[in-house]
Amino acid sequence: MIRAAELFSHMGLDPDLTDGGGMDVRTPIDGSVIGSVMDADPIQWEESVGLAEQAYDRWRDVPAPQRGDLVRRYGEVLRYHKDALGRLVSLEAGKILSEGLGEVQEMIDICDFAVGLSRQLYGRTIASERPGHRLMEVWHPIGPVAVITAFNFPVAVWSWNTAISLVCGNPVIWKPSEKTPLTAVACTALLRQLVDDDPVLHGLAQVVVGDHHVGQALADDVRIPLVSATGSTRMGRELGPRVAARFGRTLLELGGNNAMIVTPSADLDLARRAIVFSAVGTAGQRCTTLRRLIAHRSVHDQLVESLTKAYASVPIGDPLEEGTLMGPLIDGAAHARMADALTAAQEQGGTVHGGGRALAERWPDAYYVNPALAEMPAQTEIVREETFAPILYVMPYDELDEAIAIQNGVPQGLSSSIFTTDVREAETFVSAGGSDCGIANVNVGPSGAEIGGAFGGEKATGGGREAGSDSWKAYMRRTTVTVNYSRDLPLAQGVHFDVQ
Ligand code: NAD
Repeated sequence: MIRAAELFSHMGLDPDLTDGGGMDVRTPIDGSVIGSVMDADPIQWEESVGLAEQAYDRWRDVPAPQRGDLVRRYGEVLRYHKDALGRLVSLEAGKILSEGLGEVQEMIDICDFAVGLSRQLYGRTIASERPGHRLMEVWHPIGPVAVITAFNFPVAVWSWNTAISLVCGNPVIWKPSEKTPLTAVACTALLRQLVDDDPVLHGLAQVVVGDHHVGQALADDVRIPLVSATGSTRMGRELGPRVAARFGRTLLELGGNNAMIVTPSADLDLARRAIVFSAVGTAGQRCTTLRRLIAHRSVHDQLVESLTKAYASVPIGDPLEEGTLMGPLIDGAAHARMADALTAAQEQGGTVHGGGRALAERWPDAYYVNPALAEMPAQTEIVREETFAPILYVMPYDELDEAIAIQNGVPQGLSSSIFTTDVREAETFVSAGGSDCGIANVNVGPSGAEIGGAFGGEKATGGGREAGSDSWKAYMRRTTVTVNYSRDLPLAQGVHFDVQ
């Protein structure tokens, strides 16, 4: 097994950073300890926010294109260390190497995007109703941003937030998942190397490791105007009101329960391939993982048969070994939740294919599983929940309206897709009365997104949007400026108020 310390050395980082003491870090690949990190205490997070404030005072005055240059250089560093960092992601999160490398590529892509953005933080000029007046919007940095991340995308989500925050003029304090802190230590150290000559700018990128108590402290801190949090709906439900209580802003990226509708006109081979990647990839541990398949009754049985065969042939094993397509679940608790969900599916009338632990003899301290298909008679209670594991619930439908209603009939609203060759069905799906999700795909599975589009979802997914398009606006404050260059003082709406 490759060691975290070796990967740090490959990246030119001090290998001792993987031995911070305090909290052990385990790899889900075999359950062994791969390093340790220091748990942040209240003094440390207090200090971190102070350092971020100092960095902010300096950074907000640096012109945005120059801020972009730091991000450009970071993108270069990531290109250089893509292999080692990608391996570290796989080691710590258990995803296959191609996905670990893909995550680092996503970091590079968002850096490129943010560099361009650093010259495009446009405000509007608006026609004023008053003569001799100019009305315009100016976008300013907002202040230190707290970024709380989930274990399953240990680096990409931080980079979406950080690349954009930095060009917008904000420092970032990162609270990674307690399950994947080493990747966070590495990413932050790589960024800090670029500002080595300026200790104040070290405050631009900080990491505070710890469990939800650290997240709560950041949520309550009035010096942090924006808390961008990715994780379960349960976490968002707790965190959102805390931040709102002090009138802070949140950007929430929470749980999904993503569906695919397969219509009678669909290219079934294309659909099958998209289903297997979307439902089984990352061992079902993506926020966009396909969890519900809503198949037209005319294609339902054929799909179930071909999927059952495909599921049985998925290579499960060490995610760092070539040929593996499915690695382990993150830990034993995740496995227990999967087993409970399958029991509930059976109790609620479902027929389960697959599931159960795999490779337990080889790796008794790791949690590999067989992906499961559960044929459900209807959208029962368990189907409406997000279970973060490779379980695909399959349900039949007769009319498209009914399929869309099933799809929308869950609390979450992240990603969705339809497989069809009928333009009417496709357009209905993406219309206002169609999918209610933040992401609606046609002939593309729900899992995986490009950084150019705004990413996020509605309802219990939290409503946040990150990465591309105009998501940057969440990281800035808007000032509406009115300049009177006339010699009069006309009031808006024609109001007269003249004092002699
Ligand atoms: P989690 O909610 O257990 O933890 C996520 C992060 O929040 C961790 O850093 C954790 O320490 C912190 N946290 C937990 N409770 C908190 C609280 N009360 N206050 C402050 N911080 C708190 O999630 P997880 O198991 O790491 O990740 C899986 C979940 O994340 C799934 O629900 C998945 O759908 C979701 N997710 C969503 C997106 C998205 O973009 N929508 C992306 C990735 C993961």
